[in-house]
Amino acid sequence: MHLLYPGSFDPPHLGHLDLIARGAALAGRLTVAVAENPDKRPLLPADARLDLLRRLSAGMPRVEIAGYRGATLAFARAQGATALLRGLRTAADLDHERGMAEVHRRHGLDTVLLLAAGPHAHLSSSLVRAAAAAGLPLDDLVPPEVALALAPTP
Ligand code: ADP
Repeated sequence: MHLLYPGSFDPPHLGHLDLIARGAALAGRLTVAVAENPDKRPLLPADARLDLLRRLSAGMPRVEIAGYRGATLAFARAQGATALLRGLRTAADLDHERGMAEVHRRHGLDTVLLLAAGPHAHLSSSLVRAAAAAGLPLDDLVPPEVALALAPTP
């Protein structure tokens, strides 16, 4: 099975990495698809998010990293993915994912939902961005490469 794991990853955090490792172990092949949305102003530009994810997944043989613009459905088809992978942290995540999954399913693309697990189950990129803006330590939230990328420039 080839899973496509789409998201903003702005920035990538330890919860994302947990899902990547578990998804790759289940599927055999996993593509992390980094959404580049020209209408949004991300904290980290797409190139930086792609570069970080490539470095963080360097030791994971079943994982590929790719950027995409436009519809996730079209990109998943172009990649030949079997299904999408998404994570569930809360009931709100489930409500959001249910609608998206139904639209994708009607077009022939199913979604695998994995429950967020372990010590990083509560993590979100917005929490990391808030902690970084407040100057708080990021060690429990992101890998050192990401903490360095978010550190204020002197
Ligand atoms: P998006 O903007 O598409 O929600 P995110 O980068 O915020 O992009 O999240 C990408 C995916 O990773 C989503 O399916 C989200 O539910 C999942 N995810 C985010 N944080 C966690 C976590 N702590 N544990 C497991 N999955 C997570």
